[in-house]
Amino acid sequence: MSVFDCLAGQAAVRAQLEKAAAAARALATEVAPESEDALPQSAMSQAWLFTGPPGSGRSVAALALAAALECTGETPGCGECHACRTTMARSNPDVEIVETEGVTITVDATRSLVGRSYVAPSGRWRVIVIEDADRMLERTTNVLLKAIEEPPPFTVWMLCTPSPEDVMPTIRSRCRSVSLAIPPVEAVADLLVSSDHVSREQALAAAQEAQSHIGRARALATDPEAAKGRTATLRIASSIRGAGDAVLGAARLMKAADEYAKIHAAERDESERAELARSLGVNEQGRIPPAVRAQFRELEGRQKRRVTRVKRDFLDRAMIDILSFFRDVVVTQIGASLDLVNADFSHQIEAVAGESTVEQSIRKMDAIAVARERLAGNVDPLLAVEAMLVSLRPQG
Ligand SMILES: [Zn+2]
Repeated sequence: MSVFDCLAGQAAVRAQLEKAAAAARALATEVAPESEDALPQSAMSQAWLFTGPPGSGRSVAALALAAALECTGETPGCGECHACRTTMARSNPDVEIVETEGVTITVDATRSLVGRSYVAPSGRWRVIVIEDADRMLERTTNVLLKAIEEPPPFTVWMLCTPSPEDVMPTIRSRCRSVSLAIPPVEAVADLLVSSDHVSREQALAAAQEAQSHIGRARALATDPEAAKGRTATLRIASSIRGAGDAVLGAARLMKAADEYAKIHAAERDESERAELARSLGVNEQGRIPPAVRAQFRELEGRQKRRVTRVKRDFLDRAMIDILSFFRDVVVTQIGASLDLVNADFSHQIEAVAGESTVEQSIRKMDAIAVARERLAGNVDPLLAVEAMLVSLRPQG
């Protein structure tokens, strides 16, 4: 199975990446990698910008290209060799993946990343994938620019963002662009059936509910907690009758976000702390010597930022689910012949559609969009969620 099989419904992107991998392979065998302009005008580039809406699989596409570059099999991206398998499992030491845990990528983190980009790989290429390059501030991007402009012959940068406008024009102009579209529901379902072994029926429902967001669809199909969270969120949103319900509902959503963050961060926090203690030769049960306290404080700061990010992501996810509920309400109100995203909530959708107008539904959708923006900014999440839920109550 080729590493490119994971690109659900993206035939054009697949063709582009396969061509690039083949060109890189040809260059590696015919041209000395040290020669200048080793990669001119070819299908291969040392800087890539993968764009597409969240869930379209942009970082998976980047990983697939990385695997094909590192591949030692006969066809680049064979999916069978050690390099392919470790790259797709995110454990190939030559392929560094930058996941943001804070709300932004810091300048310091980027500087050390640039430093590592000059270290020769043990395999064919040093690949650096930045998953949320849109979380880099402008001055951080400047640190990166030089490294992308003149990379050593063995380094390939891959930036992933929702749209090309999310990175500075100076960076954008130096990258080969790969743009992913939202895959069709059927393609996402096919992918889940083949890669996660869920039933076709379950895969279709999850793909529909996730509106083709691959990661979200996979979570809904395979993680009972994610499915439960969606149901609880939609129950809250569909049963708001007054301000009291909204306040109560917001408190419940915040609690769910807290619990989710705890589950997803606690285990990792602990092992990171143990790992740090080990590397410093400190007994972590005992007193931490003053000399290394700063390092522990730094770790705690990072872990705290991660919890904040996980919580925000959870709440944003909940808002997208609520948005899709009111999208279904509008579809019902105007009698459009479109499938409901939330078919399992068809009764509630009909009830809300019957007691309100299209204009009111659209105003509610606007309020949800505003709440998402405020959440992305620095507003207290509880206030943003509360205000949004209040605006969902039935109007006169
Ligand atoms: Zn391979």
